Amino acid sequence: MSISSRTVGFKPGERNVFLHILTACNLSCRHCYINRGQHGTEMVDRLQLETWLELFADPGRRSNLILLGGEPTLHPDLPFAVRRSKELGYSVTVDTNGYLFHDFLARTSPQDLDYLSFSLDGPDAQTNDPIRGDGVFTVCTRGIARAIAAGFNVSLIYTVSEKNLDALPRMVPLLQQLGVRRWFIQVLGLRGNSAKSEGDETSRVSRRRWLETVPEVAAQAAAAGVHVIYPQVFLEQGETFECAGNVAENYFVFPNGRVYRCPLCEDYPVNALRIEEGRLLPNDGLTEDRFFALDIPEGCVMNKLLQPDTLEYDEHGRPRYRISCCLLKREIGWQGAG
Ligand code: SF4
Ligand code: SF4
Repeated sequence: MSISSRTVGFKPGERNVFLHILTACNLSCRHCYINRGQHGTEMVDRLQLETWLELFADPGRRSNLILLGGEPTLHPDLPFAVRRSKELGYSVTVDTNGYLFHDFLARTSPQDLDYLSFSLDGPDAQTNDPIRGDGVFTVCTRGIARAIAAGFNVSLIYTVSEKNLDALPRMVPLLQQLGVRRWFIQVLGLRGNSAKSEGDETSRVSRRRWLETVPEVAAQAAAAGVHVIYPQVFLEQGETFECAGNVAENYFVFPNGRVYRCPLCEDYPVNALRIEEGRLLPNDGLTEDRFFALDIPEGCVMNKLLQPDTLEYDEHGRPRYRISCCLLKREIGWQGAG
């Protein structure tokens, strides 16, 4: 066996459904991406849950379902949603902040849930808690240990910002100690709270800082037996740019029925689709999908429109690099690992 590092292209025919079943949360993380002004405060009720899960189910192809919030374990019907999703043929992940409300572990079977994914933004309370809240590190790591002991496949999501980039290498021993074998490193997106706090210490890391740190730490984690997935962010010379909106099937679904194809657009009422009376319908007007076909030298058009400070130009006005689709990932781990 050897360690392989590769860009994961969009898989034709694969469908990814990110279903936000509520926007409520017990925490108030500094970089929370939830925007209740855009996505409301309601919960998807049990009947809607069943209808919406059926709406996106397609047994003929690989369909990945991510149940998230807000904090999804605050929804009393989450165990029902997990079970029903499995019956419908989805590969199912739940993203949690680690509080595991409503006795979630006891009410869900590891056979029904492919991954339980915990969000943690530091290798210790000193790093994590100023971002996610007092006491959260302890609760979350205890939740991880309980989930692993109960037989669940556990993954961990770390959202990188200037506040916690330097602590990233210390995650490797923590992952080993906890027994977590799959790790997602995310880039801080300018959505929700992050869009409001732009410029303070929680803001995005520069290209130089990202490239100096993230690939190296990912390689260290892979050498320690952890499978690591992180966004490509910057395209190299010769790499092809592709917009997931054109070549992949991703749906970001919110409790008020808005359905986006691009996560960068979630702060704006430009969703390409909506769910109305149990049907998935296209929206008219200036919607996100009108932008997907635009071919610009900077790569992702939404990044240029919404996050122009991530770009740099040379003296001739040419971009120094291209930004990849935010959904394009790199993967590093032992060949054959999941
Ligand atoms: S980032 Fe997640 S855990 Fe944190 S406040 Fe927002 S919804 Fe809650
Ligand atoms: S992030 Fe950019 S490239 Fe990816 S789907 Fe959105 S617009 Fe397309």
